[in-house]
Amino acid sequence: MGFEKIIGHGKIIDFLRTAIKSDRLAHAYIFEGPEGVGKKLVSIEFAKAINCKSKSLGCKICSSCVKVNKDNHPDVNIIEPDGNSIKNKQIEGFQNDILLRPYESNRKIFIIEASDTMTISAQNRLLKILEEPPQYAMIILVTENSHNLLPTIRSRSQRIKFNRIPKKLIEEYLIENYNIESKDASVFGEFSDGSLEKAINIYESEEFKGRREMVIDIIDEIIKGDKIKLLDSMAFFEKNKEKITEILDFFTIWFRDLLLLAETGERKYLLNIDKIDNLNIHVGQVSLEGISKSIDIVEQTRKNLNWNVNFNLSIETMLLNLQEV
Ligand SMILES: [Zn+2]
Repeated sequence: MGFEKIIGHGKIIDFLRTAIKSDRLAHAYIFEGPEGVGKKLVSIEFAKAINCKSKSLGCKICSSCVKVNKDNHPDVNIIEPDGNSIKNKQIEGFQNDILLRPYESNRKIFIIEASDTMTISAQNRLLKILEEPPQYAMIILVTENSHNLLPTIRSRSQRIKFNRIPKKLIEEYLIENYNIESKDASVFGEFSDGSLEKAINIYESEEFKGRREMVIDIIDEIIKGDKIKLLDSMAFFEKNKEKITEILDFFTIWFRDLLLLAETGERKYLLNIDKIDNLNIHVGQVSLEGISKSIDIVEQTRKNLNWNVNFNLSIETMLLNLQEV
């Protein structure tokens, strides 16, 4: 693949291509942005384009591009965290390595992932390199938050800011590349948080689907007023405690859909469009006021959990309050 396969970062890619073509490359870049939006992917494609032997800036067939694709290019190095962080030892190795001239390319490129996990002493080692970088060297620091890097590193690097990918583009990508129906793609897009990686993970995750189905069943029981089963559902919440934000999102989005359907009768903007039959049943059973109240109850629960109110108590209260609506 090349730059053309990357979605949502057109301006960044134009900028990087122009820098290559006009030979105005910086010695250090900071690629900063949320998780899973494609920073690493762009950094690899950038490295590939810089060292590509053809004029197309990333051709798939020249020996350089083939090696980058196979992850064995001697002049394109990716430093990943060892465990939770980039270790001093790794930066020591990098300090030595960068002084050796490239083997077969004009540029020797180092991509440091999760670069904000470097310790201060590792960052100081990096800073020494940045103060006097070898002419052939390029370093790409990938990070979610550049403020965890030393200001002196930031000031010596060109910062490129990655934004979340628009939902629409994620949906289109899923439809095109995964053969997903558009109503399903819209659900994955909605939960993707602007991250293609997350959208794909969700699509591939049976657990996500299971959790969503479970929430819809619970809402069904709430609306039917089935109290005993409701308390049974506590086991589900406890088991999925770490996914509580997502689970509360399922609730909120469901009630928002009900509100939209009750107020406008429009289907076009529904996020749970694949569940239109269930939505239609529910909308006939709850009042407009009841739906609004339900949204408030879920949002209050979200706040309580953020304030560290007891988990089980918060969820039980939410379920009982929802039922009383
Ligand atoms: Zn090439």
